[in-house]
Amino acid sequence: MYEVLVTGGAGFIGSHFVRRILRRDDVSRVTALDALTYAGHPENLGDAFLDPRLTFVHGNILDGPLVDELMARHTAVVHFAAESHVDRSLTTADHFLTTNVLGTQTLAASAGRHGIEKFVHVSTDEVYGSLAQGSAREEDPVQPSVPYAASKAASDLVALSHFQTYGLPVCVTRSSNNYGPHQFPEKVIPLFTTRLLQGDKVTLHGEGQHVRNWLHVQDNCAGIELVLFKGIPGEIYNLAGGTDLTGRELTAKLLTLCGADWNSVAYIPDRQANDLRYSMFWDKIAALGFRPARDLDEGLAETVDWYRRNPDRWAPLTRTPFATVSAAGEEAHAH
Ligand code: NAD
Repeated sequence: MYEVLVTGGAGFIGSHFVRRILRRDDVSRVTALDALTYAGHPENLGDAFLDPRLTFVHGNILDGPLVDELMARHTAVVHFAAESHVDRSLTTADHFLTTNVLGTQTLAASAGRHGIEKFVHVSTDEVYGSLAQGSAREEDPVQPSVPYAASKAASDLVALSHFQTYGLPVCVTRSSNNYGPHQFPEKVIPLFTTRLLQGDKVTLHGEGQHVRNWLHVQDNCAGIELVLFKGIPGEIYNLAGGTDLTGRELTAKLLTLCGADWNSVAYIPDRQANDLRYSMFWDKIAALGFRPARDLDEGLAETVDWYRRNPDRWAPLTRTPFATVSAAGEEAHAH
């Protein structure tokens, strides 16, 4: 039986993942460890709390004694906890480095001391940097452009060093942009959706030409589950296979789904560091059996529908000071 510690389990992807592994009969314990920053909300776990195998711990991955105590009761770790928003990293990079790099070090060192059998470190395609053409393979060098991506690239290397040095069975997943229900309304899909549903304007940087691969959060979680149970220690797995869209193409779809038109879109000059295009090969995870199952148009419609039906979940969040500032300068470019 598996006892799985999920860090960042009250965040967007972590909470979907917790629900997913609770469907398995061979998992006897799931602990969601989350500091409940602005991005973490226990409501994201909702009815998963009805399952007696789930425990929620409000705590920080940087808290060594707490991490040691938890690690002793688990056989596997799936590490989602991070500062995850590119825009915030432009002004608070030190915070990103502390959480993402030192947090990963704290967890991996403790995992080694407690004989953890699999440590999955969840990362991003942004570590490869912008690609004018072609697609990144797992063995390609990391070339992050923005502090968020640099902190994730550094944390990937920290995690992998625990495999090389101490033999900790680490796997790294690098996924493309995720979308789906109950994502914090600062990333582009929930930000645009919530603004358009409220009758507000959205802003596109430049010509909206930046290309991202959009993967449904449940497909990413399916890939992470495969890596947890079948991934080879020491290996990195790209998780893509979603749909490539420019910011403009994505905006067009959201306008239609929200019943708005291009009069709701304002253009602002592109920022200095705005990666033009991410792209990854994903044949390595495909060899483990990964096949993205969710159609983008259906998934987007379902996502917009979730925001339409649940204003009580997101409306209070859009009134926070950062959300107001961010909305003014946000665009369709990144996570
Ligand atoms: P999120 O911001 O929604 O969730 C992050 C969670 O981590 C939050 O619940 C937050 O409270 C928690 N957290 C932050 N600092 C913590 C700390 N010090 N201790 C404990 N908990 C802490 O992010 P997400 O979109 O769910 O992303 C999860 C992971 O996936 C991140 O590592 C991110 O880099 C990666 N990722 C995300 C995407 C995407 O499109 N969202 C794509 C690729 C990779």
